[in-house]
Amino acid sequence: MVRVVSCIFLFLCFSAVAESARLSLSDYFTETWSTRAGLPHNSINGVAQTKDGYIWIATWEGLARFNGREFKLFTRTEIPGLPDSGLRSLIAMENGDLYIVGARGGIALRSQGGWRALPSSSAMVNHALVTEQGELWLALEGQGIVYRASETATEQKLLDKLSAYRLLQDKTGVIWAATSDGLYQIENKQVSKINEDSGLPNASVFTLLLTESGTLIVGTEKGAWQKKNNKFVAINPVLNNESIASLLEDAQGDLWFGTINKGVFRLSSLGLENLAADDGLPNNRILSLLLDREKSIWVGTNAGLFRLREAPFTNWSQSRGLASDYVRTVLSHSDGSLWVGSSNGLNRIENGKLTTLTQAYEKDPLSVLSLTEDKQGGVWLGTYTAGLMKVVNGQIYPVKNRSNGLISNEVRAVLFDAFDNLWVGTAAGLTKIDPAGQIHSFTTEDGLAGDFIMALNEDDHGRLWVGTGVGVSIFDPVTEQFKTLEFPTQFSTEYAFGFYLDGDKMWLATDRGLVRYNLSTDKMSLFGRDQGLPVDKLFQVIEQGDSLWLTSNRGVIQVNKAQLVALLDNPEKVQPMSVSMQLYDEGDGMLSAQANGGSNPAAVLHSDGQVWVATAKGVAIATPERLKEASKRRLSTVIESFEVDGKPITLPVGNEVLSLPAGVSRVSFNYAGLSFIMPGRLNYQTQLSGYNQQWVDRGRLAITEYTNLPPGDYTFKVRAGYPNSDWQNNEQVLRFKIAPYFWQKTSFKLFILVAVLFAAYAIYKYRLYHYKRIEIELTEKVEQQMHDLQTQADAFAHLANHDQLTQLPNRRAFDIWLSENFSQFQRDNKTLSIAIMDIDHFKLINDNFSHLIGDKVICEIARLLRMNFPDEGYAARWGGEEFTLLFPYKNAEEAARLCEIIRLEIAGYDFSELADSLSVTVSFGVADNAQVADYDRLLSHADNALYNAKNNGRNQIFIYNQGCITLD
Ligand code: GH3
Ligand code: MG
Ligand code: MG
Repeated sequence: MVRVVSCIFLFLCFSAVAESARLSLSDYFTETWSTRAGLPHNSINGVAQTKDGYIWIATWEGLARFNGREFKLFTRTEIPGLPDSGLRSLIAMENGDLYIVGARGGIALRSQGGWRALPSSSAMVNHALVTEQGELWLALEGQGIVYRASETATEQKLLDKLSAYRLLQDKTGVIWAATSDGLYQIENKQVSKINEDSGLPNASVFTLLLTESGTLIVGTEKGAWQKKNNKFVAINPVLNNESIASLLEDAQGDLWFGTINKGVFRLSSLGLENLAADDGLPNNRILSLLLDREKSIWVGTNAGLFRLREAPFTNWSQSRGLASDYVRTVLSHSDGSLWVGSSNGLNRIENGKLTTLTQAYEKDPLSVLSLTEDKQGGVWLGTYTAGLMKVVNGQIYPVKNRSNGLISNEVRAVLFDAFDNLWVGTAAGLTKIDPAGQIHSFTTEDGLAGDFIMALNEDDHGRLWVGTGVGVSIFDPVTEQFKTLEFPTQFSTEYAFGFYLDGDKMWLATDRGLVRYNLSTDKMSLFGRDQGLPVDKLFQVIEQGDSLWLTSNRGVIQVNKAQLVALLDNPEKVQPMSVSMQLYDEGDGMLSAQANGGSNPAAVLHSDGQVWVATAKGVAIATPERLKEASKRRLSTVIESFEVDGKPITLPVGNEVLSLPAGVSRVSFNYAGLSFIMPGRLNYQTQLSGYNQQWVDRGRLAITEYTNLPPGDYTFKVRAGYPNSDWQNNEQVLRFKIAPYFWQKTSFKLFILVAVLFAAYAIYKYRLYHYKRIEIELTEKVEQQMHDLQTQADAFAHLANHDQLTQLPNRRAFDIWLSENFSQFQRDNKTLSIAIMDIDHFKLINDNFSHLIGDKVICEIARLLRMNFPDEGYAARWGGEEFTLLFPYKNAEEAARLCEIIRLEIAGYDFSELADSLSVTVSFGVADNAQVADYDRLLSHADNALYNAKNNGRNQIFIYNQGCITLD
């Protein structure tokens, strides 16, 4: 509990309105981290925030770095050369460097993401100071103060045999030292002790602070003192009994004091407030204090790390004086006060002051379910067991209960309508008390949907809306009838816990989400789980600013109203995604996310813009302005780790470009937005230029992975931000390049291109050669075939003109020759003779020697004919055993002489080779062209002559018209 110990700044309280931004210590949202959350040790010796935004925690077991989600430990493995992991102090520098100092004289420096251990000192280092001149000053345990002119220079001792705890350089360059022997001042390396004449008590000095305005504050064993005109004056006498071990000035200029056994004190316009173990501090021994960039106060205690931050929600609970933590109803009064009805009574809160109201006639605490205000400002309350009551002159008086006309003592909703009727919704029905005091009750028998009444509201048609445990009824004052509101079946809505009249719309908080009822058109629309609402059951709808606030068992949901209306008006065209929505719960400062419903009003909008919500643990108060502020806070983004194919890679410093080998298949980035207010709500966007040029939404995912990136130069960017706020230019950048395999190199690709072109050319050339060869071959083939054809044609021609058996020209050839030449011979008056030669008695040869021998005889005769025939003549086989002979330029007689040679040759030829006793003779008929008109006649003359030769006895030559010749 917070004790306002003193209020020496009472006069400042007049300006309380102007100072409204200042939170009372109890209004801060607090959180604690211990070894269970990942801290290496629970003694938090130092807390610091570096320029990159990280919070660092020094403990006896090493250093931890906090990113809002988790602690990363840095041990002596990460910081080689540090003699001991016990740390005493952290000194964060303007340039982003961080010094850590501690046991066994250890000093290490973190600079640009890397660690470096400096030469150790001779004793435990309690604190260090880097002066404007670059000197390193060390406050040692038991061994006074030393300094090094530079990082590596030898140590110079200035004070010995005392413990120095803290060093500070003021704006004039003077170094102040807090020691076990009091306060020392060091000017130009000249040490002087501040003695008691200065006003400082004779006591150890543990800590020092230089305020923004340049005032030196000294934390001693006996209180905190500030330097004023070379004198030291006590800051607050109450503190004079306390050992002040740490000091802090916050963003509003208020001073915070960490004590050795009384927790934390804050001195502000609200007075000197104390926060101790009773109020949630892990313990009362405070070792360190830090104000971070987001104005949160970090308190390092002996039993863990504690943080006070301004959360979107603050609370009024039993610990602040509420009658009970179980709050059922809240009322915003027209006089600016707020009334809180809980299971154990009624409270009124005005300007941060709480009063408790009690019953006039009874001592027992009341369980309050509902509240309302009448036109005169009177407060009426519905109770659990005592019916309807009213506050008169700060006391609670009974009004109506079952003994004087109320249908039930359990009053869950109370409402004054436009006609000054008082409606009382109870657990067993609805009672109307008219201005004349007449009472009339309604139940299901009168048409009410249900008897268990939870909510009442009046629309601008004067109709009364009744939320019951089984449905919604609407009472028409004209007809005095109840009508049950029929929800569309697809809503699966059954009942309403709360109503909110919004012009011609009635918003209903139902068991299936938010229903909007259009009073003009009777049209209903639903915003439920299907539209992204995280919970089903809503208790109350509050409109505030541009938002609707919906209370539920799981917290308070803030929905952008314009976007919601757009969706409900046009569900076909508008995406539910476009409705921005936030669910607030314990992480946002609510003591309990469980809002209460079932009686009214369960949440309310106050005149100052705050939304008050009845919860299972006090009233949760949303201050929208603070929410907006939080989302506007500047925050930095850090890339925490970079992994290539699952292996962590040391992060580059500055603009360095990381070179990755060829064949990298997976790169992943872990990052964090360094905001400690609502880290769980941070959203991220990433971009990998070289791969994509757009920011890609990552939601709350703090890791991004890329696979199968081609070789090339890449720049990875990540930025963090709160939802519903613009992205800040806080992106963190990491540059890297992936080397190509030799086959992925441009030069290799060029080489391949040239090779391919060359190969293509070679193939072309080869094909060309090939085709030429084919052409030659084809030509040869064609020629051969032409030749063959010709040969065949010649053969056919030969065949056509020659006799198969004897190879002599055949009758066709003879006819052609004779027809072609006969007339020419006639014209030229040239002599021409023909003869027909016929084998004698050939029939007998066939008969006697076989047909085959006959053929051979024909062949032999033909051969003998050819051999004995003159060159200028022409012989042919005329058919069968007959031959025709043609003698150009010969008359019949001359031709007969030539025939005679042939006849003799044949007759004398020995045919015994063909057959024994075979002899063959031939006869000739000869004629010439004298007095012959055509060659047919010539042939018939020859034939006639042959006939005569046969008749004459064969084996002779007969000349036409001349007779047989006998040769001499
Ligand atoms: P001639 O002329 O002396 O009056 O008596 P011939 O027996 O030779 O006369 P004929 O005209 O009566 O008979 C001719 C025979 O020749 C008839 C036929 O069987 C035979 N002959 C015709 N052509 C061929 C042939 O190509 N081969 C064979 N073996 N016999 C043939
Ligand atoms: Mg014949
Ligand atoms: Mg014959």
